[in-house]
Amino acid sequence: MLATDLEKASDNMMDGSVTIKLPVAEQARLNRERADTYHRYHIDAMETEDRQKFPRRFNVKVGKFGLAKLLFTEFFKYFGHWDVVFSRPCTYGVFSGPVGGFSPRPDLCVGCLRCEVQHPDFVKVTHNPELAAIGDSYLTSKHISTIDEEARKGTVPVRGQGYRGRFGGPGFDQMFTDMSEIVRPSRDGIHGRELIGTSVDLGSKPMSLKFDSNGGLLDAPKMLTIQVPFIYAPPPDSVSTGIVPEILAEAAGTVDTLVFLPENTVTNQGLASPNVVPMIAPGQMGNIESHGNGTRMVEMTSWNLDAWNQVKEHPLLISVQLPLAGDWMSTMMEMVDNGVSIIHLISDHHGESDDGRFIMDLYQEAHFALIEKGCRDEVTLIGTGGIAGADHLPKSIITGMDAVGLDHPLLIAMQARLLGDTKTRGAAGVKLPSKFDQEWAVQRILNLSCSWRDQLLEILGAMGVREVRRLRGETGRAMWCGHLEAEAFGDIEGFPGGEH
Ligand code: SF4
Repeated sequence: MLATDLEKASDNMMDGSVTIKLPVAEQARLNRERADTYHRYHIDAMETEDRQKFPRRFNVKVGKFGLAKLLFTEFFKYFGHWDVVFSRPCTYGVFSGPVGGFSPRPDLCVGCLRCEVQHPDFVKVTHNPELAAIGDSYLTSKHISTIDEEARKGTVPVRGQGYRGRFGGPGFDQMFTDMSEIVRPSRDGIHGRELIGTSVDLGSKPMSLKFDSNGGLLDAPKMLTIQVPFIYAPPPDSVSTGIVPEILAEAAGTVDTLVFLPENTVTNQGLASPNVVPMIAPGQMGNIESHGNGTRMVEMTSWNLDAWNQVKEHPLLISVQLPLAGDWMSTMMEMVDNGVSIIHLISDHHGESDDGRFIMDLYQEAHFALIEKGCRDEVTLIGTGGIAGADHLPKSIITGMDAVGLDHPLLIAMQARLLGDTKTRGAAGVKLPSKFDQEWAVQRILNLSCSWRDQLLEILGAMGVREVRRLRGETGRAMWCGHLEAEAFGDIEGFPGGEH
C-alpha cells in the first residue's frame, strides 16, 4: 500500500512532522493481511530412515543351559502366561523372539543390565566393538550415533534416563552453560508461541548511519543475513566434486544458510547461487566477476594484502580464511586494519590449532582482542573445526563466534564413514552408503540442521536470551569445570595446581 496510501492518509503538521491517519478498520485489515501472510522461519524435518544399518550398541550373550533351567522353573511358576515366560528376563523384547532367549535380539537392547544383574550366571551384555570402532578420539561413536539419530528423526534426542555421561572433560566438555530455573522464563520461545531469533548477520555493521540532504542512506551496510548461526564448510578433498557439493548446495538453499565450496566445483558443476560461497585462491581473485546467478559472497582462501586490495571495494561480500596456526593473532589484526569484515577462523577437525590449543580459548582471544580494539561489531567471526555435537554450537558462540562451520557432522548425517586421517582438514577418506541418493541425503541434512537449531533454541530459551546474536561472547552465562574445581578443591592437598 504504502507510499501512495500513506500520502493520501497523512497530514503535514505545523512543525513539519507527519501524522498518519488511517481508519481503524483499514489498519486492522492491513494488520490481518500481514499476519496471514507472515511465515515464521522453520526447517521442515521428516523422519528419514537409515540407508545402511547402524551398528547396534550392545551384544547380548546367553548361556543356553542357564536359560533352559530358568524357563523350566518359570514354566511352572507362570503356567498359562506364556508371554511372560518367553519374554523374561528382558522387558525390552530381546528375549521375545520366536525361540525366546535361545536366539536373542540384541538390536533391541538398551543396556539397562537388568538381565545381567538378575542372572549373572548365564547372561552377559557387552559393548559392540563394531560400534566402538567408528569415529576417532574426538568425533566418537557416541557423537556419531547421536548425529545419526538426529539426521534420521530431525528432533531433539531424548533418552529418558537422565544424563549418563561424565560431568566435565576435555574440549567443549569444559564448559557448563547456565540453564538454571531462575533464569528460565518460559518455554514459549521453544514451542514457537514467542520468537527466539536464530538469524545472524555476516559483514560489517556500521557504528552509525549517515544520510544525504534528501534523507537517503549513505554507505548502506554491506552484509547479509542467514537464518541459522551455522554454515556448511567445504567437504573433504575426496568428495569436493560430484554429488556431495550438490547435496550441500541444495540443503543450504532450503535452510537459508551458506555452503562454502571450491571455486572450480562451483563453476564446473554450475552451482552458483545466493547460498553458495565460492572459495577463491588469492592469485585468482580476479575471477570474482565470473560468479553470477545471485552469488552474494566469496571467500579468499588465505590472507594476501595485494589480492585483498584488488577486490576490497567489490560489491560482493568477501570473507578471508585464517588458519589458527603460527602468529594468527597478528594476521587477524592486519586483516582488520585493512578493512576485512568477515574472518573465517579455521582449526583442524579436533578443534585444535597447530600448537595443540583448543578453539574455545582461541575464540575468546579473537573475540576479546576485537573488543579491546573497539571494532567487534565491524567484524564477523566464523569458526570452523571441531564441531561434533549440537551443544558445541552455542558453546562456540558463547566463546565469541558469530557463526560456526559444520563439516564432518554433515557427512555423518549422510551415513558416510570417515576413513584415514580424520584430524587434518580435508584429508579424510569418505565412504558413502551404497544406497544413496540426493533427495534422501538433502533431507538428512535438513533434519540435522533442524535438530541442532531446536537444541540451540532450548539453550537460548533456558537462558532467557531472545536471539542468538546476544549470545555471542556471553561468557558470563557459562562456567568452566576447571575453574569450579579449583575454587572448590584448590585448598586440598594434592589437588593439581592447589595451594599445597
Ligand atoms: S541389558 Fe536390559 S535391555 Fe539389554 S537384554 Fe538385558 S534386560 Fe534387556
